[in-house]
Amino acid sequence: MNVPRTRSECEQLDEADPLRQLRDEFVLPDGVVYLDGNSLGALPRRARARVREMVDVEWGQGLIRSWNEAGWFDLPLTLGDRLAPLIGAGSGEVVVCDSTSVNLFKVFTAALGMRPGRKVVVAEAGSFPTDLYVMEGATGLLEGYERRLIGDGQPGLDDVLDDDVAVVVLSHVDYRTGRLHDMAAVTEQVHRHGALVVWDLCHSVGALPVHLEDCAADFAVGCTYKYLNGGPGAPAFAFVATKHQNEARQPLSGWHGHADPFAFVGGYEPAPGIGRFRAGTPQLLSYAPLQASLDVWDRVDLAELRAKSEALTELFIALVDRECAEHGVEVVSPRDARERGSQVALRHADGYPVMQALIERGIIGDFRAPDLLRFGFTPLYVGFTDVWDAVQVLREVLATQAWRDERYQVRAAVT
Ligand SMILES: *Cc1c(COP(=O)(O)O)cnc(C)c1O
Repeated sequence: MNVPRTRSECEQLDEADPLRQLRDEFVLPDGVVYLDGNSLGALPRRARARVREMVDVEWGQGLIRSWNEAGWFDLPLTLGDRLAPLIGAGSGEVVVCDSTSVNLFKVFTAALGMRPGRKVVVAEAGSFPTDLYVMEGATGLLEGYERRLIGDGQPGLDDVLDDDVAVVVLSHVDYRTGRLHDMAAVTEQVHRHGALVVWDLCHSVGALPVHLEDCAADFAVGCTYKYLNGGPGAPAFAFVATKHQNEARQPLSGWHGHADPFAFVGGYEPAPGIGRFRAGTPQLLSYAPLQASLDVWDRVDLAELRAKSEALTELFIALVDRECAEHGVEVVSPRDARERGSQVALRHADGYPVMQALIERGIIGDFRAPDLLRFGFTPLYVGFTDVWDAVQVLREVLATQAWRDERYQVRAAVT
């Protein structure tokens, strides 16, 4: 790319941006460049009215009637259908409920049950830890499973796949480096060995187009509070390919996943289709902001989203190379945009205090141990000028070593 030499060149890029109007849909505090939408998306303006409506009208006035009249009971499925196009899924393939960790437990265990003779599970050594923890918990309830780790100094996927492998769990986009898997190729590779694959989409949903059906994916999970802007604690989703739905049995067999929940019978019979991946009463209030954020997503062209995301991360990398390389930061994310999600990670030996100094100056990213500065570029509300401003502040913090100040060294619980 032609790397801009001035801020006004970045302003021109913002003016030509087809997604630019969408920024007005979000509440963004003055003086802040928000590059952490990959951890917690910004507040959609219309979410406030929707939350008020759910509380004051549906709960306050509708009371118990709202389970039927406001469509509360079906929300996990109706929102699943609304979310489906964002991940290339069909109608009746997605349910919105619980957390990513809980949904991973459900689909991973269901997948194991579909490959009963096989006793090996495969995970990435660099996975977001909850994925490893949940797999450990699930296989710990069963007998005789072996885990094979791949990546990060371990063997590659090709080296560990054989006819003993039941299930492979992979992050579509790596939460630290932003490295993007080729979902179609990897899914095919796993299927060649007769195994099933679970995709974790936490860092790809809303960051780039995802094509679960076209890739013949089996299962997927993801959260809605990152790039989708569904709000803190927003419900997660689970995808189960139609062809697997009636064979898959998930172990959290609560009443909302029952074929006839209001029959109140003693024995469990799973609902047909994706509904069996529900467990109990959904956290209704947390669905309201997600509904509002999906109204915004209805207006987004995912090809435009991806093009802007690539341009933003490309610009950030180019500016960091030019302005900051001599100050001890190194780009860790793939340099080829086709192999990258919508985030860029930089390595710096004192990453934690550097990030604290940035945050105090209004540039909000985050830190991932041991030494990564992570910046997320949410195409709906981050502009090219924001990228310019962020790199200028980063250069200043590094060049002046402002991060050495004592107050930046104190670790908070959430980094
Ligand atoms: C954010 C994230 C999660 C979060 O799981 P929760 O159950 O919502 O806490 C899981 N996996 C990955 C890859 C993530 O990035």
